[in-house]
Amino acid sequence: MSLLYEGKAKRIFSTEQPGVLRVEYKDEVTAGNGAKKDYIEGKGRLNNQITSRIFNFIKARGIESHFIEQTSETEQLVKSVDIIPLEVVVRNIAAGSITKRLGFEKGHEFESPLVEFFYKNDNLNDPLITEDHIQLLHLASEEDIELLKNAAKAINAVLVQLMDEMELRLVDFKIEFGRNKSGQIILADEISPDTCRIWDKYSDTNFDKDVYREDTGSIIETYQTFLNKLEEL
Ligand code: UDP
Repeated sequence: MSLLYEGKAKRIFSTEQPGVLRVEYKDEVTAGNGAKKDYIEGKGRLNNQITSRIFNFIKARGIESHFIEQTSETEQLVKSVDIIPLEVVVRNIAAGSITKRLGFEKGHEFESPLVEFFYKNDNLNDPLITEDHIQLLHLASEEDIELLKNAAKAINAVLVQLMDEMELRLVDFKIEFGRNKSGQIILADEISPDTCRIWDKYSDTNFDKDVYREDTGSIIETYQTFLNKLEEL
């Protein structure tokens, strides 16, 4: 089947079934909009397994996504959607860009979960974008933005509970949404240690891509430990 799109971490193929795509998770890792890039064998398998488990977990708790099923170690089938070019970030604890942008101390706990939007545009370096900008660029209507924020908070609540059961803290994460043929907005893309910050409940250990961004450990060992915890649930 033909390759429709190749991104930094995944390849998307058409299938014989209309409206169904095959996603292949690649053994590649990037950080800083591709400034840092490496081939790491086994990383695709881990992210595919983790994302598949998380999508199944949230589905069981009433949150639909584009995910259909995992079909091999590195592949899954998903429903075809038009991705809305927004990165929806939810933050429970300050880390990463918000510490630099607004001066929050790393580890500061927000009173309530914070939702931010970034414009998915590599040429512009994915800038933070306001709700008015989103409407001005016709990316989403006011009602759609409200829906995205509410969906992001609902997903956060389910993920926080999942991580809590694993004795972990969900610091922040990025999700993407798409529109299906009938215009309905659904969760898409992936939820994995590539797109989340996850800290141990009782120590400074983290289980996410920061080990790669900051060169503090092995991405394979880190993601494998996270997957093991997920499988133990
Ligand atoms: N994130 C992501 N893809 C991006 C940018 C951010 O998955 O292109 C995730 C990141 O892993 C973190 C959250 O979104 O869990 C918030 O990222 P932040 O804005 O702090 O940016 P960063 O410090 O990662 O550049």
